[in-house]
Amino acid sequence: MTTAENLSEKVRDFIASPRKMLINGKWTDAASGKTFETLDPSTGESIVQVAEGDREDVNRAVAAARTAFEDSPWSRMAPSAREKIMHRLADLMEENADVLAELEALDNGKNVAVARAVDVQLAIDYMRYMAGWPTKIGGDILPMSVPYAPDAKFMGYTLKEPVGVVGQIIPWNFPALMASWKLSPALASGCTVVLKPAEETPLTALYIGELICQAGFPEGVVNIIPGYGHTAGAALTEHEDVDKIAFTGSTTVGKIIVKAAADTMKNVSMELGGKSPAIILPDADLDIAIPGAASAIFFNMGQVCCAGSRLFVPDNLYDKVIDGLANEANNMKIGPGLNPENMINPLVSQIQFDRVMSYIDSGRGEGAEVIAGGGRSGDTGYFVEPTVLAKTTRDMKVVQEEIFGPVVCVQRYGDVSEIPALANDTVYGLGASIWTRDVGNIINIVPKIKSGSVWVNCHSILDAVMPFGGYKQSGYGKDMGKEALDSYLETKAVCIMA
Ligand code: ADP
Repeated sequence: MTTAENLSEKVRDFIASPRKMLINGKWTDAASGKTFETLDPSTGESIVQVAEGDREDVNRAVAAARTAFEDSPWSRMAPSAREKIMHRLADLMEENADVLAELEALDNGKNVAVARAVDVQLAIDYMRYMAGWPTKIGGDILPMSVPYAPDAKFMGYTLKEPVGVVGQIIPWNFPALMASWKLSPALASGCTVVLKPAEETPLTALYIGELICQAGFPEGVVNIIPGYGHTAGAALTEHEDVDKIAFTGSTTVGKIIVKAAADTMKNVSMELGGKSPAIILPDADLDIAIPGAASAIFFNMGQVCCAGSRLFVPDNLYDKVIDGLANEANNMKIGPGLNPENMINPLVSQIQFDRVMSYIDSGRGEGAEVIAGGGRSGDTGYFVEPTVLAKTTRDMKVVQEEIFGPVVCVQRYGDVSEIPALANDTVYGLGASIWTRDVGNIINIVPKIKSGSVWVNCHSILDAVMPFGGYKQSGYGKDMGKEALDSYLETKAVCIMA
């Protein structure tokens, strides 16, 4: 299946000419006139040229977002009117869901049916979920005492106000979903936004930009600047007139951003890397646990911040689980994501491909046993076989560092009492799963695991209502759920003396 032949008309139209950036409601070229290529990861070939945003474009976008925040009706609009526009956007996303899924498969490489069912549907669901919030965001009335002014009467209350102009920097692994995770709570809160999609995958964010223009948002409420991290991204994080930065990406870049944002004391929320454990307990139902552990790591080719990349298996089940996992890995069909039968698709880029292959080599060098996969698939595109590394130990680089690829490190353990220490033996704390039929195990182990999500008998299940975000070096602040609103709102305390 060659990509170009099978594209829908809408997608073909969208990639027929260079894509521009969205500033103040208008599609514009970069101030420098520069463009960059976005590539099809299944072939390495160019899809389309995209305007390359840099500092000057970020300055213009921030100025537009500032004007929109201060002068446009958005932040002061009746909450029900804000809801209506957000619902319209969610409806437009739903109407264009197949187009978004196809663009995602083309730009990121992933399976088109999965993109439709998971990425795009969750993006729509979350926009809708957040569209319901503007009418429900309220402060409190506070019963004041003021002991040093006993004769006066006071009334205290809190107001919830949008933080202002928000810079949002998102990664390439779930481009449309990340755009929704960031835009939805910002818009529900009344903020205005400058969004920078990842340079590898700008297309779905730009398509959502088209839908934003149709939905009726005032100009400048959402600005979208495609471009590179060290240029456009850095300009956004350093900008004096940006009130908040919301970032999803690697812990390494997260640390750079936190430092850059410190100079202007920006409010920051960080959803960073992970090395999440999937823990099979001795009583687990292996018919569920083995395919579950496989999908915990191989879903999205392991390019998932909460991927179950460390698998813990008890001694008594070890051989069975290893065999089962290898079987799952060997039976996954590999190929381009535009063919929905292919469940293992290319990694996003040459850089990512090289990185993952070098980790596999490092694992081999440190004594891990390659039970399945371990190599490249085909000779075009960035395909890596689903890989199972057995006999891994805690000190190995592949066990400690985030690989962000389809590579699981299996470690064995003797007794359930070892689990919390093993699970927490990482600088990260994003997700974890335990596989058990014993409710006692759940009650005992869940509180001991230092991570923002714990799944039981499943892994990486996401939903609009469930807050998602890390402990430790996996970051702070939450995406999704109502908690995501917290970091887009300031609390103003008001005191009236009667
Ligand atoms: P990955 O390593 O998985 O590619 P990154 O964390 O590098 O993920 O990238 C996530 C996002 O962060 C992308 O949009 C990228 O352009 C952006 N980014 C990278 N470096 C910087 C930086 N120094 N400042 C701001 N944004 C950056």
